Amino acid sequence: AFNHRPTFTNLVLVLGAASSGGLVAYADSKSDDVLDKPQGPPKKKVVVLGTGWGGTTFLRNLDSKLYDVQVISPRNYFAFTPLLPSVTCGTVEPRSVVEPIRRILEKKGGDIKFWEAECFKIDSANKKIHCRSNIGTNLDGNGEFLVDYDYLVIAVGARSNTFNTPGVEENCHFLKEVEDAQKIRRSVMDCFERASLPYLNEEERKKNLHFVVVGGGPTGVEFAAELHDFVTEDLSKLYPSIQHLVKISLIEAADHILTMFDKRITEFAEDKFGRDGIDVKTGYKVVKVAKDAITMQNPATGDIAVPYGMAVWSTGIGTRPFISEFMKQIGQGNRRVLATDEWLRVLECDSVYAVGDCATINQRRVMDDIAEIFRVTDKDNSGTLTVKEIQDVLDDIYVRYPQVELYLKSRQMNGIADLVRTAKGDAEKESVELNIEEFKKALSLVDSQVKHLPATAQVASQQGQYLARCFNKMKDAEENPEGPIRIRGEGRHRFRPFRYRHLGQFAPLGGEQTAAQLPGDWISIGHSTQWLWYSVYATKQISWRTRALVISDWSRRFIFGRDSSCI
Ligand code: FAD
Repeated sequence: AFNHRPTFTNLVLVLGAASSGGLVAYADSKSDDVLDKPQGPPKKKVVVLGTGWGGTTFLRNLDSKLYDVQVISPRNYFAFTPLLPSVTCGTVEPRSVVEPIRRILEKKGGDIKFWEAECFKIDSANKKIHCRSNIGTNLDGNGEFLVDYDYLVIAVGARSNTFNTPGVEENCHFLKEVEDAQKIRRSVMDCFERASLPYLNEEERKKNLHFVVVGGGPTGVEFAAELHDFVTEDLSKLYPSIQHLVKISLIEAADHILTMFDKRITEFAEDKFGRDGIDVKTGYKVVKVAKDAITMQNPATGDIAVPYGMAVWSTGIGTRPFISEFMKQIGQGNRRVLATDEWLRVLECDSVYAVGDCATINQRRVMDDIAEIFRVTDKDNSGTLTVKEIQDVLDDIYVRYPQVELYLKSRQMNGIADLVRTAKGDAEKESVELNIEEFKKALSLVDSQVKHLPATAQVASQQGQYLARCFNKMKDAEENPEGPIRIRGEGRHRFRPFRYRHLGQFAPLGGEQTAAQLPGDWISIGHSTQWLWYSVYATKQISWRTRALVISDWSRRFIFGRDSSCI
């Protein structure tokens, strides 16, 4: 009656179980006493990879009584990444932004198992996960073990992307994990202490106090702003003799920083940084990072090498190597990111789901959907639409594909006229009636750019929540295939496809000022928006414990300033 796999309590060894035929540890979520008693039909095994935004939100929303759930992640906590830039300068303490995953699982009350290990191979043909513990070894000495699954949820996020720029791995800091933020904090203080040593000349002091941030996206901008505040509000009092030598440079390859935000926010940020003395270098591409100097390129200036004390690399994200391997295995080797359908099922891979930064929804359907919206709107089949009709079409597209709107806004294109002019390559023309084919052509320019949803916590957590709801209904749906939760007809699928709802985004700019771009094209910039930022981030904390810690850190900073010790 039972699935009798030879087992010890939880972690067992089976001979010849692995494809290698060797001695391999096997992680099993059942314990001996459970196996000794007669059971009902075994629960399906759900394995979740990752305890970040996607994985944790999935687990928090899953009805864990319905499944036999195992979680695998190399870190045993959830990290509130939006506050990592604050950790780099001691505005918030590292422990305040993390919550132990076991505490989160305990609150669920179910029997969810957690293994602190990293997955290094997915064998989807045999429904097995190859894992390696990073804290200990098994009897074989290599710490490796296997976990099998009925359903796999991949939520492993992404890694920092260096675009193969020489010297970045060796000489730059990244800002992706809590450990990265702690290292940056120590490194900032080391630069100040080094610059204060008695035997240095002025040039050497300047070099040590030159902080370079590569990448003018939200993370790079927020870090530059935090560092500027730290220097002006706290360190200038502690290092009065060298404070005038500090320089912060922000290097961005595009023409502006914060290109994913509205033009007004970009302009405000660039002006503010200019006033604050942060050297914003747009149109510069970093081509090499040596131990002492960063080389950047600009068509006008050619190569220039700038000495620096500390550099933070924040230019975007890339796929984790084991996910790239998995993609090759399942015929997605020519893609850059793991593709799923709109129900978050990995394409051509049975029972495997992916959420968050490691995946992208295959938008094959975007243009089909857009064509369908046109067809319905063009009732008289004339092939042309009025501007009003086109605006309606666009509104409909924006609701279904918020990334189209985000893309247009980020390119500072505010309407159809801009779009059509771009497609025609003619800045002068603007007509009342627009040809559908032209409009489609214009949108196809956008299409290649909108395949990816933004890599944000917002997307990852909405996907985790959506997927958990699907899993919660799955059994019910199997038992009542024609029941009310069957949403799409013709046996296509039982669940509504995932739709992302963009709730807006913040860009903290330092000096107690934040910019916010909220739905409905609502832009807000300034001190009051900073208070909105405080309230939203306090509300979004994963537990009352972290909420209390974060608020007390903010209060401590207001009263005593930031801590400058090199711990
Ligand atoms: P993650 O949250 O990165 O989680 C990945 C998980 O997978 C981790 O638990 C990791 O340990 C685990 N893992 C890694 N490798 C393996 C493996 N081999 N096997 C098993 N598990 C593995 N987004 C916003 O919306 N707003 C913001 O203000 C914001 N600010 C940010 C600031 C910073 C500094 C950073 C770095 C990101 C920020 N983001 C923000 C983006 C947001 O953090 C990511 O989009 C989000 O974390 C993605 O969630 P995820 O679950 O896909 O990945």
